[in-house]
Amino acid sequence: MGKPTGFLEYGRENLKKQAVEDRTQHWGEFEEGITPRRLHTQAARCMDCGVPFCNFGCPVQNLIPEFNEYIYADQWRAAYGTLQSTNNFPEFTGRVCPAPCESACCAGLVVDPVAIKLVEKTIIERAFEEGWVKSNLGGQKSGVKIAVIGSGPSGLAAAVQLNLAGHEVTVFEKNEVLGGLLALGIPDFKLEKHIIERRIEIMRQSGIEFKTQAQVGRNLPTQEVLDSFAYLCLCGGAERPNDLPNRPPNLAGIHQAMDFLSQQNRRVGGRAVGEAEILAKGKHVIVLGGGDTGADCVGTSIRQGAKSVTQIEILPKPPLNRTEDNPWPEYPRTFKVASSHEEGCSRLFSTKTAEFIGLEKVEKVSCIEVNWEKDSEGKWQVSDKPGTEFELQADLVLLAIGFAGPIQEGLIADLGLEFDSRGNVQTHNHQTSHERVFAAGDMATGQSLVVRAIYSGRSMAKAVDTAIKGHSHLS
Ligand SMILES: Cc1cc2nc3c(=O)[nH]c(=O)nc-3n(C[C@H](O)[C@H](O)[C@H](O)COP(=O)(O)OP(=O)(O)OC[C@H]3O[C@@H](n4cnc5c(N)ncnc54)[C@H](O)[C@@H]3O)c2cc1C
Ligand code: SF4
Repeated sequence: MGKPTGFLEYGRENLKKQAVEDRTQHWGEFEEGITPRRLHTQAARCMDCGVPFCNFGCPVQNLIPEFNEYIYADQWRAAYGTLQSTNNFPEFTGRVCPAPCESACCAGLVVDPVAIKLVEKTIIERAFEEGWVKSNLGGQKSGVKIAVIGSGPSGLAAAVQLNLAGHEVTVFEKNEVLGGLLALGIPDFKLEKHIIERRIEIMRQSGIEFKTQAQVGRNLPTQEVLDSFAYLCLCGGAERPNDLPNRPPNLAGIHQAMDFLSQQNRRVGGRAVGEAEILAKGKHVIVLGGGDTGADCVGTSIRQGAKSVTQIEILPKPPLNRTEDNPWPEYPRTFKVASSHEEGCSRLFSTKTAEFIGLEKVEKVSCIEVNWEKDSEGKWQVSDKPGTEFELQADLVLLAIGFAGPIQEGLIADLGLEFDSRGNVQTHNHQTSHERVFAAGDMATGQSLVVRAIYSGRSMAKAVDTAIKGHSHLS
């Protein structure tokens, strides 16, 4: 806690963002920082609530009242120590986490919640500036070699933890760049890539080895990895995108969101884009799907100079406030405006695309509004609303309609792993159907959040360490 009466005395401060017309002229992050004095006031808002629901709301269970208390007492180094004890990468979550902790904050019941994500980001940035974030060569060496396959947040978190426990860790990544979706999915305007590189450098200094352009099950035989390592930790993500059943196979101009976003991230990073370029400049862009990926397509299209951007979501527009079946401290299923939405796009809800129209390339999409109603068993049913058909001009259509699970060919097929009912790799306490193979992150849970992937990587590391030693001191 900060100051027991702080939440009554001070208001919440949100980070100032650059004006839309300025920030859309570049690809970098656009939130301003906060002075230590002002952060002190924000930490003071943490009340003496007794039961810190924020801590349960945070998937890595950050010790939030404790680090707020340290900031209020101007003990920044102790605040950093507390933060890094539960979260390997606060610099990522402090930028891209949707902050379920804040939705569960007790102060939020009566006033605005404590600005926890802001406190987290400011602590870790100060820690890097002060040189407090240091390499750690880990405990007594076990001599056990572990392959972590995939360098997204789950793989990176697992690598740090396994290295701490004294194991010899090598991370294999099929791409030329490390970081998984942090590097090639999430745009630079949400997370600049030097932030990832800064962390990877510390990990290298800690003794973790990285091998890029190494796709296990393709250019690196799975059997070779099985023969060379005692354990395999699969962290390959949920890379199989959903597609539309009515998508015409030969109509140009319709692309998966990740193909579009990863090209732009490579462009910003000065790397080769490789395939035929997908660009929104001068185009009417339709983004299908209302989630994070869709919002990232909106912001990217606007920065590329799209003529117009329309985001279409088949689900109804969420309510502005919590409903009775979504009480505090649950994450609120309410209407959200991402920073990309502020930058100028139309948003349509309860709308579906009926047809893609064009000769060789898409020119229009025909849409229809839909009704959502519960049937006699209480299940939601969707039906077309007659007479609501309309058409939109479309030169580029981006599909941001979720992911169906991990790619099954190659690595997973080679290992003969079992799947759960949703098509993810089946695990019991992270162990797959192969005794020496563990899995974590989106590959085991389906597409989720960076913070959940970090937690999953950490808990897999503990499971692997326990399998090796019979016990584990990892948290
Ligand atoms: C566009 C987009 C935006 C998002 N925005 C947010 C956000 O703002 N906030 C948030 O919390 N979450 C966000 N998410 C979700 C979040 O990024 C993921 O939940 C998280 O990255 C999952 O981490 P992971 O480690 O499981 O997998 P990934 O990050 O997907 O990493 C998997 C890695 O494994 C590699 N790999 C796969 N197979 C192999 C193989 N055989 N050999 C070697 N390497 C392999 C892949 O190349 C990849 O680098 C977003 C997702 C997308 C798609
Ligand atoms: S990781 Fe996310 S949920 Fe946890 S404290 Fe940070 S912002 Fe909140």
